[in-house]
Amino acid sequence: MQPRDLSDHVAYEAGRGIEEVARELGRDPSEFVKLASNENPHGPSPAAVETIREAASSVSSYPKSTHTDLTEAVADHWDVSPAQVWLANGGDGALDYLSRAVIKPGDEVLVPTPGFAYYGMSARFHHGEVSEYSLDREGGFTQTAAAVLEDYDGERIVYLTSPHNPSGSTTDLAEIERLAEETDEETLVVVDEAYGEFADVDSAVALIEGRDGFDARDDIAVLRTFSKAYGLAGLRLGYAVVPDGWADAYTRVNTPFAASELACRAGLAAFGDDEHVERTVETARKSRTAMREEIDAHVWESEGNFVLANVGDASAVADAMQERGVIVRDCTSFGLPGCIRITCGTEAETERAIETLNEVLAAPD
Ligand code: PMP
Repeated sequence: MQPRDLSDHVAYEAGRGIEEVARELGRDPSEFVKLASNENPHGPSPAAVETIREAASSVSSYPKSTHTDLTEAVADHWDVSPAQVWLANGGDGALDYLSRAVIKPGDEVLVPTPGFAYYGMSARFHHGEVSEYSLDREGGFTQTAAAVLEDYDGERIVYLTSPHNPSGSTTDLAEIERLAEETDEETLVVVDEAYGEFADVDSAVALIEGRDGFDARDDIAVLRTFSKAYGLAGLRLGYAVVPDGWADAYTRVNTPFAASELACRAGLAAFGDDEHVERTVETARKSRTAMREEIDAHVWESEGNFVLANVGDASAVADAMQERGVIVRDCTSFGLPGCIRITCGTEAETERAIETLNEVLAAPD
């Protein structure tokens, strides 16, 4: 037999690793730096690495399925109940849980263009249909409630990314509240804060909980990940903070043991390592400022650990940079032609990226 017709499903285009690129070009991996997947240039928290070493012998046992020490720590941090924290196999896994909990076959979801591809993929996996709202390039990709509502037609989930990938724009809480207020009661607004640690805006958890002068809401979920500021992308650990009263749904949609024991233990250690997170955020801030100031092309203001640059022929520029050893992301797959996204690296990596890009931009065709 064959799998069912999957022609509606688009494969996820992950950024290629250094080994893969080096092999393809017949070069030594040490010649390359990868600034294409918004990974942490300082690596994982040392506390997490130590914990993984210590925990290695425990992996013959199944992890706890729905409630771990990490759940408690995350709940404490956000001042929510542990039942409101849905731990998952990466932020992607948390998106799947939300899809599974909310989407009925044939329901529609509304996703940003340009935007993170997995929103639509997850919805389709759960038999949902996908429509798009456009973010205005000239207006700096600002995600206002009005911009989203222009294309809103009663969809079951509306996704909003703050900071937005790939532009780095943010949305303030009043705007998100307006969006939740203006959409139907049966619409969930998923606020993806995968890059939240790098930004100056408050988390939308305040809207769920009714803090800072907002009324509590049961139609917003917030997504967070350990892949970026915590440097644990390879472990696959993320979570959603959901409204109070959704605990029963989690027990029903949770893939058994999806967040692994090593991931949960390392996540707990990394979550307590403020120094590592602060260093990471500081590096990103310096790097994005330098790239904005020194790249000879338009670079949008970003609150993430990456910047978006308008370079014209993005694929040619990304290839030429790669040839010179700097791997960046061509944003065509985000629905954004003409742009590349560059991850904030260490000071030396940032300098190299700026010099390389400027050299490529200055080179005759
Ligand atoms: N949301 C956004 C906007 C992202 O860019 C990513 C990862 N690139 C994720 C969610 C998911 O990250 P992960 O599954 O690694 O937690």
